[in-house]
Amino acid sequence: MADQHAIPAAGRPTVAVADTALVFPVRRIFCVGRNYREHSREMGASDLEAPPFFFTKPAEAVVASGGVVPFPGRTQDLHHEIELVVALAGPGKIYGYAAGIDLTRRDVQLALKQSGKPWDTAKGFEHSAPISAIARAADIGHPARGRIWLEVNGQIRQDGDIADMIWGVPAILAELSTWFEIHPGDLVFTGTPAGVGPLRPGDRVCGGVDGVGRLEVTMAAR
Ligand code: MN
Repeated sequence: MADQHAIPAAGRPTVAVADTALVFPVRRIFCVGRNYREHSREMGASDLEAPPFFFTKPAEAVVASGGVVPFPGRTQDLHHEIELVVALAGPGKIYGYAAGIDLTRRDVQLALKQSGKPWDTAKGFEHSAPISAIARAADIGHPARGRIWLEVNGQIRQDGDIADMIWGVPAILAELSTWFEIHPGDLVFTGTPAGVGPLRPGDRVCGGVDGVGRLEVTMAAR
């Protein structure tokens, strides 16, 4: 007889696959820190050539485009970071790409950095990973360049090009796989260009990577 769950087992969160009726089940979310030079400078990094590093968010952090993001507590400085996202079908197997936002409690992150503590409360909270539909690599190929941008209430905040990533997707995946086992359903947020900044309750946030995907979410009232 199969083991019975002691409490209900949650299904996996999913992300829509563009131009299909499919959904992509999310397993883990890996994120790259400091992968664009101008953003590294604005964050005060001293060694711009240091290898990117990784942190994670729970799969439940995904929010579909069109959704409302509950405004998190315990921050006075919630930041947007628009990023190219890689969706994996297995080790070394890219299923597709999306545009996502790495929501960050910046005030908390700065305090944690200063005290040498882990980043989970700054990065790994619920609803912290809004994401567009996933465009299949079989349909769009493997984008090496393209505008990456984010607007808040119609005002442009971030405007870069994924060609300016310090580490490209193949190098990120090669490095990531030396730290973690990669499985189908893993997402990788690949870092953000310059222009990160604060969000307020009620803000309309729109962003994308041209040729890949576009998303739009609304920040809820507190
Ligand atoms: Mn980020």
